[in-house]
Amino acid sequence: MKIIDAQVIVTNPGRNFVTLKITTDEGITGLGDATLNGRELSVVSYLRDHVVPLLLGTDPHRIEDTWQYLYRGAYWRRGPVTMAAIAAVDVALWDIKAKVAGLPLYQLLGGASRDRVRTYGHANGATVPELFDSVRARLAEGYQAVRIQTGVPGLKTVYGVHQGTAIAEADGVAGAPRLDQHATPLVEDWDTRAYLRHMPTVFEAVRNEFGPELPLLHDAHHRLTPIEAARLGKSLEPYDLFWLEDCTPAENQDGLRLVREHTTTPLAIGEVFNTVFDYQTLVADQLIDYVRSAVTHFGGVSPLRKLFDFAAQHQIKSAIHGPEDISPVGMAAAIHLDLAIHNFGIQEYSGYTARTHEVFQHAFTFEDGHLHPGEAPGIGVELDEEMAAGHPYEQAYLPVNRLQDGTIHDW
Ligand SMILES: [Mg+2]
Repeated sequence: MKIIDAQVIVTNPGRNFVTLKITTDEGITGLGDATLNGRELSVVSYLRDHVVPLLLGTDPHRIEDTWQYLYRGAYWRRGPVTMAAIAAVDVALWDIKAKVAGLPLYQLLGGASRDRVRTYGHANGATVPELFDSVRARLAEGYQAVRIQTGVPGLKTVYGVHQGTAIAEADGVAGAPRLDQHATPLVEDWDTRAYLRHMPTVFEAVRNEFGPELPLLHDAHHRLTPIEAARLGKSLEPYDLFWLEDCTPAENQDGLRLVREHTTTPLAIGEVFNTVFDYQTLVADQLIDYVRSAVTHFGGVSPLRKLFDFAAQHQIKSAIHGPEDISPVGMAAAIHLDLAIHNFGIQEYSGYTARTHEVFQHAFTFEDGHLHPGEAPGIGVELDEEMAAGHPYEQAYLPVNRLQDGTIHDW
């Protein structure tokens, strides 16, 4: 079997998605997600101009060899653009191999290790009463674990909190497009001391309202120094978090060591990581509890499987990044991995717009807060190209973040 065609398809059924479609001489096709939120067209060029010409005429069954060829052969290693492009090829080739076998991908990864995949959803509100409404909405949708994000008194806008409950609730599973993409970057504001004072009061209120059982998560979005993160982890210990996510930027992996030494709040990190090397110290020294990379930004199913096996040696679990900017193709690949690996932790899942479900027809299902990849051969996603063409690319950026004196800060 040979690859005879590879197309890059860009569509915006609510937000931009980049999809690679590989076609073989036997008429079998495979899909891979290459979406890099806010920098989408750089991956389109990387694939069209530099990767697709290398794929034509090659054997789609040689997944590992193709991965190594693209990773090592470029000389310029790592980085989100390169690894999103390689991920799209890797997932498309796994999709083809599983279709040839007539099996859902999870069967090729060792078969199911569980019956279904637990997820968590996002609850947010500018105020605590709005947050409570949002938590109730997620519980009504079936979620059994919830990420908590709120506004901070004195700040106009905060990560993960949309302005007004109507918008906040519109991003639910069956909802309208999220409004966190903009033609120019939205400018949010930040004050670490106000945030650190406010968060324990929020979690105390949520525990009082919803009881001790509900797993609660929180994302600090890389905004704290290690000692600030240590203080936050410590101050949230009475509220029994499932995890504290991205508490400090991890370019310096040793920063997490300082956090770890001060708190028993479980730590999760890795959604912006591209390779196992970003995790080397964190995993080997057991400085974290969950690895958070997405199939789409980590080079695909092949390297993420290896990361999970490495993490398992240190009692660290998976928690694949799954916001709305991971397309249903990337999400499907994630769910197959989740079902197959032993050290599964939890899967992030925010749902999609109704239009996205039409453009990307998928076998995976969401019920009672749990996902299942379905039994369709391959990853179980087909792209309606005609419908995709009706929703063209729109320029969009993620927000940026400034301190109150105007200094740019991590978003
Ligand atoms: Mg996150």
